[in-house]
Amino acid sequence: MSKEADRNPGFDTQAIHAGWDGKHALGALNPPIYQTSTFVFDSVSHAQKVFSGESAEYVYTRGNNPTLRLFEQKMAILEKGEKAVAFSSGMAAISSVLLSLLKAGDELLTSRTLYGSTYHVATQLLPRYGIRANFADLAHPGAVQAALTDATKVVYLETPANPSLELVDIAATAEAAHRRGAIVVVDNTFATPYFQNPLALGADVVVHSCTKYIGGHGDALGGVAVARDPDYIFRLRFDFLCDLGGVLSPFNAWLLLRGLKTLGVRMERHASNALAVARFLAGHPKVERVLYPGLDEFPQRELARRQMRGYGGIVSFEVKGGYDAAVRLIDSLQLCTIAVSLGDAETLVEHPASMTHREYPRERLAEFGFSEALVRLSVGLENPEDIIADFDQALRRI
Ligand SMILES: *Cc1c(COP(=O)(O)O)cnc(C)c1O
Repeated sequence: MSKEADRNPGFDTQAIHAGWDGKHALGALNPPIYQTSTFVFDSVSHAQKVFSGESAEYVYTRGNNPTLRLFEQKMAILEKGEKAVAFSSGMAAISSVLLSLLKAGDELLTSRTLYGSTYHVATQLLPRYGIRANFADLAHPGAVQAALTDATKVVYLETPANPSLELVDIAATAEAAHRRGAIVVVDNTFATPYFQNPLALGADVVVHSCTKYIGGHGDALGGVAVARDPDYIFRLRFDFLCDLGGVLSPFNAWLLLRGLKTLGVRMERHASNALAVARFLAGHPKVERVLYPGLDEFPQRELARRQMRGYGGIVSFEVKGGYDAAVRLIDSLQLCTIAVSLGDAETLVEHPASMTHREYPRERLAEFGFSEALVRLSVGLENPEDIIADFDQALRRI
């Protein structure tokens, strides 16, 4: 693999081969699951070498484990970072990263359109520790600069955002934040490293819910943080992951490694299916508007082209007829499944105002870029004509 690396292998080759340059135990094609909590030493002097960091061997799985390390190495390469650290869930990664970068008196600058639990961390958890969250419309050029203060230590963003699919210009945001000494953290769950690399655009830290596209099969929770600065990842691991304890299990690391092998082919199909469904919906008389960065009429189409290589599998749309029509449509679907989460083989549909975003005040949803008529779908890997046929019959019922 090391010779291959000199030739800059493509994403799919890296996703399958990178991070490992030897043979697995007993010549196994796939890495073993090191299902062990602790590791054995030959002698006290051997243990001293490992504890002092002189040897990169393992002590205890809360610190690291070979199955986790392989996953971390692959993610660091795919996200164009230096080092990565795995967590038990996306939220374990996000909350640990925020706590590691902020202390009492500091401010976080973020957007209101955030994953629900992340919004809760910003508005409920951080203030208990003296950290203030300021909100700005980060999708609006100039808003970042205007909202940065001397106390802003972190700018945190999702692009595309959930569920509005609004984009934030990562390069411009990083430039403005860095001028004021703030660090930029990007949640890259929706785009995945296959379609977008925030670190290459100037962000400092990338976080993922690996529960979604990285795992890809809806069977494992996991999270990861990747950064360009290896010292930061070292501190995140030993000062936060080890002590807060949100460690990925070796079995889930193995499932995520399996998912990574097909990330590229799955994302191509998610994206082509999503575009087909988005085009069908956009042409339907009962649909008010469709939000998908791959549609020509998407308001930030130029930015989408500039910072993404593809537009992912999430499509949001508003039906005519408001709340009642949206609920009736969702309840009428037969193939597509009503569920939160995303990135699975199955097409999943949800109603953000009732489900993932129910904490957002109903009368102010427009401020967050959506309404009660909004339906979010995670377009799966089924044949696109079958997904479209299901929406076609459901739309007839409203
Ligand atoms: C699901 C999700 C999270 C949280 O991840 P978990 O693995 O469920 O903890 C964070 N951000 C985004 C964008 C998500 O979709």
